[in-house]
Amino acid sequence: MAFAHRAWAVVCFILVVAARVDARSLRRPSPIGARRTTLLDDEFDVDSFDVDSKSKAVATRSILRDVSSGEWSKWRYRSNDELAAVLDDLHAGPCAGISKLTSIGTSAGGVAMRAMEISTSPGLEQAKPGIMLVGNMHGDEPVGRELIVRFARLLCIAHGGERSGHGDLDSASKKLVDEAASIVDGARVFLVPTINPDGFKNKRRNNGNSKDLNRDFPDQFNDPSLPDGFDERQPETAAIMRYSQSVNATAALNFHEGALVANYPYDAISGTNRQAGYAKSPDDVAFKRLAKIYAKAHPSMATPANKEFPEGVTNGARWYPLWGGMQDWHYIKTQTMDVTVEVNEWKWPEASQLSSLWSEHAPAIVSYVHAVTRKSLTGKVLDSVDGKTPVASAQLSVAGIDVPFIASSLGYYARFLAPGTHEVTASAPGYYSQTRSVNVDAESGGTLTISLRRLEDETPDTGKVQNFSKQKPSRVVETKKPVVNSAVDTNDPNYDPEKGGIVWNRGEPDEWVDDGTTTLDVANARIVYAPTPEGYVQPWGQGPDIGFLDAIVVALIVIGVCIWRWRKRRKARLAALREGVQLSNVKVTND
Ligand SMILES: [Zn+2]
Repeated sequence: MAFAHRAWAVVCFILVVAARVDARSLRRPSPIGARRTTLLDDEFDVDSFDVDSKSKAVATRSILRDVSSGEWSKWRYRSNDELAAVLDDLHAGPCAGISKLTSIGTSAGGVAMRAMEISTSPGLEQAKPGIMLVGNMHGDEPVGRELIVRFARLLCIAHGGERSGHGDLDSASKKLVDEAASIVDGARVFLVPTINPDGFKNKRRNNGNSKDLNRDFPDQFNDPSLPDGFDERQPETAAIMRYSQSVNATAALNFHEGALVANYPYDAISGTNRQAGYAKSPDDVAFKRLAKIYAKAHPSMATPANKEFPEGVTNGARWYPLWGGMQDWHYIKTQTMDVTVEVNEWKWPEASQLSSLWSEHAPAIVSYVHAVTRKSLTGKVLDSVDGKTPVASAQLSVAGIDVPFIASSLGYYARFLAPGTHEVTASAPGYYSQTRSVNVDAESGGTLTISLRRLEDETPDTGKVQNFSKQKPSRVVETKKPVVNSAVDTNDPNYDPEKGGIVWNRGEPDEWVDDGTTTLDVANARIVYAPTPEGYVQPWGQGPDIGFLDAIVVALIVIGVCIWRWRKRRKARLAALREGVQLSNVKVTND
């Protein structure tokens, strides 16, 4: 009995320890955070990436002067009404035919917030990367408003001039014009000059409800599921969340003020001490490359003159962590690679500074947007039946980067990656997954079209199904209803009367399916599974397996017995105390 008691004590001890460990793990940040955030002591140096430094704004004044001629030579902060009017002017003037204006919502103070798309077929789904520019999220940081409308004008003038020629522009200007024209042809550009018109009007950081919009987004630690919950958000936040999800851009820029740096995710960091530290995202290398493309195309951002950030870039959380920002939300929710640019060391600079701010940032904006347009990995996921039908909403993932992304309704995808060879896997319900290797060139990016084969297109002529074992179906059997194997060919040499089906790969270990339970329904040319004793199919990867349920039942029984024995001992102790007997003499466990 003494041995039994010790054995029970050991079991109870293990359970208690396990429960404590489990409780600790429950207090950890969300699985998303735990999975996606790793802290590093040092930034990985990406100087080796070839960024063309010729695009620096040394001699680009010619085209920038074109953009800033006439009415545009007056450097001032436009009021909200003037901002709306200038968008109308662009839409009717230089951007006619390649722009679309929409209202994305209304601010807390009732001001309509507008967005302009610039592309060759505005408003239509296209097989092109999307790039979004957002300005003036903080009301007292207004430079982005002006940068965005002038960038729109630059794109439209460059695109118009592409056909008429640009005459005697200097070489730097020609490069800028070529890249800008190439952006209009090759991308969809979504411009939102202000998402805080009330803050701008009041010259205050926060919106009309005194809320900081860049702390108002769901974040990976406080709202791990990143719910839309638009009603719980500020109207400006909800508006940009809806718009972002509708355009599903490949990359974004959002403009702030108070430093001179390109800041990339993550902004938020796990842990409760809220101390600054590097919060590495799965796309850390690509993010650094993007941020450096911006910084190096700016004349002073990535130079020793920038004392705080001599490289011109920083990881957000390494600078200072923040939670609820747009940058992290964009990346995690819509897989949009968003870089926050702090355009000037002090906020709301004199209007007379706008001219030089524009000439410094224009080449950087063009370089960034052009890089996403022309240097991304792009391609389509198509149905192999005809090689043309898009597989809408196919999921793609890149090996080593734990952030899958979704193809558009055209089957199109675009992803900005580090140069090199990548393994890309496409999968979709009803299709076999496929993994392909592709090289992404530093200058020209890469293209990869993946044709997926439908599960029901499999028409093996015999029961030999080796073909199946080489490809993992993205979804095998959806139903949990019993599978009737009535169509199985009982003359097949692999027919197993006990299983009621043809045993697939019997005797050959397979990495993704349990041989003993898998059969092939030849007549219907699809994989089925032998019924379990309960009469239900146990498809691979679906539902808890029997072993797991068994473990839970055993654990519950053990816990129950522990409690029962503890209560019994306690009762005996109390009884002994009541009788005035020395506790040490009571052999309560030997009952
Ligand atoms: Zn700001």
